[in-house]
Amino acid sequence: MTSLKNQLENQVKAINDFDTRRRHGADGHNDRSLWILACMDERLPVDQALGIHADSPVGGGDAHLFRNAGGIVTDDAIRSAMLTCNFFGTKEIVIVQHTQCGMLSANAAELEQYFRDKGIDPDAIALDPTLPELSLEKGAFAKWIGMMDEVDKACLKTIETFKNHPLIPDDTIISGWIWEVETSRLRAPSLEAGRNSRNIDVSSAQFGVTSPQPARW
Ligand SMILES: [Zn+2]
Repeated sequence: MTSLKNQLENQVKAINDFDTRRRHGADGHNDRSLWILACMDERLPVDQALGIHADSPVGGGDAHLFRNAGGIVTDDAIRSAMLTCNFFGTKEIVIVQHTQCGMLSANAAELEQYFRDKGIDPDAIALDPTLPELSLEKGAFAKWIGMMDEVDKACLKTIETFKNHPLIPDDTIISGWIWEVETSRLRAPSLEAGRNSRNIDVSSAQFGVTSPQPARW
């Protein structure tokens, strides 16, 4: 049995390492060497869904947690994953999307039109005013918004994109999951019929969207 002295020494060291872990480079990884990409939706409880401590309270220590609209791949998601996987010791990526996502709830072309009706030209907007080099080709704004036709399809494409990205190390473990807000149940994404037992709709049609999104994938 370890002495109390040893136990306390380890405990104090662990606390000090927690505070200063970024100074240790890739050896200063978070508790599970994990990066999570999740939708920002308030109905997606990341800790509960994954059985970890990352988001509430922030500082749980298990993961670097990145949330955006949809939990889809974007340039900033790639930027953050690139940093954590190459320099902060992260070995695993977990992607979490969910049913009833707001990213299913309209066609991106309508969102683009919303701005045009207000006299804003989306083709002339600086996406990041501090980085004017980051620009979209004319007509790509609706695609950039990243609305979904089906959440399972979007999740599978997001997984594939991270697996194939040159800035993400090949040996990174990558998986994606769907949180069913109706049942508080986590399941794997799938395009198979009967993928969920309760016939939960995963498409944009349930929101009255009748035409496909501008193709992003
Ligand atoms: Zn969502």
